[in-house]
Amino acid sequence: MSVPSSAPSRPPAADVLPRCAVCGTGSRQPPFRPNPPEQAPDLDLRPGEPVRSTMARWLQQCPSCGYAAPNITKAHPAAAQAVAAAPFRALMAEVTHPPLARRFLAWAHVLEETGALHAAAEATLHAAWVADDLGKDDLARLWRLDAVALWRGGAPLNHEQTVRVIDALRRAEAWGDAAATADQLGETDAPEAVAQVVNLEIRLIAARDASRHTVATALPPPARRPHVSHHQVAARPDGLLARLRRWLGRR
Ligand SMILES: [Zn+2]
Repeated sequence: MSVPSSAPSRPPAADVLPRCAVCGTGSRQPPFRPNPPEQAPDLDLRPGEPVRSTMARWLQQCPSCGYAAPNITKAHPAAAQAVAAAPFRALMAEVTHPPLARRFLAWAHVLEETGALHAAAEATLHAAWVADDLGKDDLARLWRLDAVALWRGGAPLNHEQTVRVIDALRRAEAWGDAAATADQLGETDAPEAVAQVVNLEIRLIAARDASRHTVATALPPPARRPHVSHHQVAARPDGLLARLRRWLGRR
């Protein structure tokens, strides 16, 4: 049996700060471990409370170069180039954007530059959620449409991703595109839970309703809501089907 030649790793000393994987700057970045969501998610899978109001802690951001990621001590090999390039620097300098939205857009930009288009769409949608909370409707609309473009620019979308595209289009008041996309999905063999959400989307689109609704609205009455603490719920948004099953109480 071989013996490891290196000493076992020890936890870092308290004065050793995590280092940005792009520029090497150390900064204090408190860990984030949210309690699981207890409320139903929105139709675009924005989590319910208490996770909903913790967006300011979802991403770390380097105070020196601006690189943002769930963990800035890790980076794609191409991230440094993306962070140094003019579009990223322009994004960092865009003072008319809310700082928290800029952080999500920074992460989205790196993801897009490294080819992770669907993840970039997700991060861009998160920027739209920040704009929602601040009442910046024009920015929310713009970033939802950007997210849709990123989703459509990547690999073919599954049912759940398509539902999120439909909801983003509806919330952005892109009625024609939203209706056509919902009709297309409605014609496929979507699972029942997805079909129920699509039916709700079709009704909302017909009523020109661009407001927020939760998946609980898609439930047939009477709503059965099992207590969420009976389930293992991931902090990150998980599949629409899994969420719907929990909220429908059918699995
Ligand atoms: Zn940095």
